[in-house]
Amino acid sequence: MPTSLNRYAVIGNPVEHSLSPQIQRMFAEQTGIAMTYEKCHAELDKFTEAVQQFRKQGGKGMNITLPFKEQAFELADILSPRAELARAVNVFLFTENGKILGDNTDGFGLVRDLQHNHHCVLEDKAILLLGAGGSARGCLGPLLDEYPREIIIANRTLKKAQALADEFQRFGSVRACGYDDEYVLDPEDGFDLIINTTSASIQGEMPPLANHIIADGGICYDLMYGLSENPFLDWADSESADIIADGLGMLVEQAAESFHVWHGIRPDTGSVLAGLR
Ligand code: NDP
Repeated sequence: MPTSLNRYAVIGNPVEHSLSPQIQRMFAEQTGIAMTYEKCHAELDKFTEAVQQFRKQGGKGMNITLPFKEQAFELADILSPRAELARAVNVFLFTENGKILGDNTDGFGLVRDLQHNHHCVLEDKAILLLGAGGSARGCLGPLLDEYPREIIIANRTLKKAQALADEFQRFGSVRACGYDDEYVLDPEDGFDLIINTTSASIQGEMPPLANHIIADGGICYDLMYGLSENPFLDWADSESADIIADGLGMLVEQAAESFHVWHGIRPDTGSVLAGLR
């Protein structure tokens, strides 16, 4: 039986739907690491208290999900460079000297899923990133690390896309625009990769995209997963995108990276992803 020293949890509100316990248990079984992993529901104004209580009860680390990633960023004593850039934290490691180390594995998870599971080459590719919220911010750094030709950020609220482009253009070619901009309506050679980071799919909607903007061999990726209907992925299908993917792979890959932060071991994700599908 794992001791309290091997206690982990995902904290969120709501958290009931989370697949993280299932994924982490599969990783633990596969690697032979004895640990427990539970769901921790925190009231919206009681995030810090819930984290401290879990820690006092012997917790060694946590995943943080919506809507607490920004609060987690504020609470961490030490931040990894990728958490600093994302300004959001989805993993805590409670260190032996009483500090909270905050990391962000979301963007890593996306890039790893694209490259490892979908065999996608990002170097020199034209990427259209839909949305300019927290997840777009978290994905930008890891995407730019792979040297794409350019990233166009399109968002309903243009000034949010512009702020992100201004901040990230020191790492590569990043431009912001609205959905009615000619860069999005009529790109020169089409986009090699379109990533939907908006929450439109949950509302049964998709950003207003023109047809014929996907390059030959192009990929369409939605961060959302588990929806019975996804208008963006349906659109990608009708536009004959070569690869169409939801965010389940990203979820599993960010979880594997969290596992690595806690235990120093990277579990195999292929079998876990296949099991969940
Ligand atoms: P935010 O609330 O920070 O941002 C939402 C974005 O969606 C904004 O850019 C907003 O535009 C845009 N948007 C919302 N509704 C519409 C619409 N109807 N049409 C066009 N644009 C719209 O959310 P997050 O970035 O934190 O999360 C986005 C999604 O990513 C969530 O669904 C989340 O579940 C998923 N996610 C998946 C992960 C995974 O592991 N697979 C990890 C992290 C997130 P505006 O600025 O104009 O309001």
